[in-house]
Amino acid sequence: MREVYLDNAATTKLDEKVLEEMLPFLREKYGNPSSLHSKGQEAKNAIEESREKVSVILNSKPEEIIFTGSGTESDNLAVLGYARKNQEKGRHLITTTIEHHAVLDAFKKLEKEGFEVTYLNVNSEGKINMEELKDSIREDTILASIIYANNEIGVIQEIKEISRICGENNVTFHTDACQAANYLETDVEELGVDLMSLNSSKIYGPKGAGILYKSKGKELEPIVHGGGQEFNFRSGTENVANIIGMAKALEKASKHRQEESERLKKLRDYFINELLKMENTKLNGAKEDRLPNNINVSFLNIEGESVILMLSEEGIYASTGSACSSNSLESSHVIKALGLPAELGHSSIRFSLGKDTTKEDLNYTLEKLRPVIKKLRQMSPLNKNLSEVLENE
Ligand SMILES: *Cc1c(COP(=O)(O)O)cnc(C)c1O
Repeated sequence: MREVYLDNAATTKLDEKVLEEMLPFLREKYGNPSSLHSKGQEAKNAIEESREKVSVILNSKPEEIIFTGSGTESDNLAVLGYARKNQEKGRHLITTTIEHHAVLDAFKKLEKEGFEVTYLNVNSEGKINMEELKDSIREDTILASIIYANNEIGVIQEIKEISRICGENNVTFHTDACQAANYLETDVEELGVDLMSLNSSKIYGPKGAGILYKSKGKELEPIVHGGGQEFNFRSGTENVANIIGMAKALEKASKHRQEESERLKKLRDYFINELLKMENTKLNGAKEDRLPNNINVSFLNIEGESVILMLSEEGIYASTGSACSSNSLESSHVIKALGLPAELGHSSIRFSLGKDTTKEDLNYTLEKLRPVIKKLRQMSPLNKNLSEVLENE
């Protein structure tokens, strides 16, 4: 059976070249980087080369790069670590309603610890408002964390402008760039960010590896304590092979960023146009300020989960909302934040394209999708029209 993988926002396939660079560190180069002998130093040197490589791509200093175990851990370390370490300066924090749970739940934890959090709303396209950001900043605001490109609807925020506003007001700025690294600018000087999270599994690297960029002047409290690895910010024996793989994956991503973005934008817009030709279908999130690989649509009167399962039987892999909200069967907090009627929240599907996606894949998907939607609509007890549903709002 033909397989069409359209779930690259959940995770990407490990790149062959990346795997090749990792293999020696899973075989003969197994030393502990903390060991003083040459087998240890061989691993240590490989990690430092990777750190150097990453820092050149991000335009930072090597000592500003912290290797972690995931995107989630980078987000947690940035948000929890910064807030806890700097709480004498103030206990007010800012974030948005459309963050990944790795950020959102870290803020929920901080609320329990006595911090106060402002959650910025987004407009119907998924973008935050700069005036609202400015108005939310107080004397005691120490940190703002705003997602660079959203994992569900692909909307891209004005990171440079947000950095500028935060900087002028002496607020430290963190961005979750896990979805952005394949397609958008990651130069931290250019972006003006203080903290930035990246992960490996979204850029054709191995799962279970992350990066936190931390600007030199910023202090963090570690969340994992022990042997003092990673400048004391992340204790525990380094996952050497994963770090090597992630650095290679980031290098490849930065090299192909431009051409791959242009290629995928064309495919994305073609696919969106074809989907919107189908009755009672709506695009979720901005049309322009959107990741080149993200398509998120709602099919009115249909359960998103049913579509996913029926497509899966045809070898087509897509997603409802994010992987985490798929598990909980709750309607996605991101779709909710757009202010859409509940009927549309439950019926959203995310197709995320990747480096292997072709136009033939998309045509095959459309061919299989149309009868699936038709069949599910016929089975649906609700039979409203999109215009009615949107009017009643
Ligand atoms: C995937 C993702 C994460 C979590 O990364 P893990 O490596 O799975 O922990 C965090 N933020 C965003 C935006 C993501 O897409």
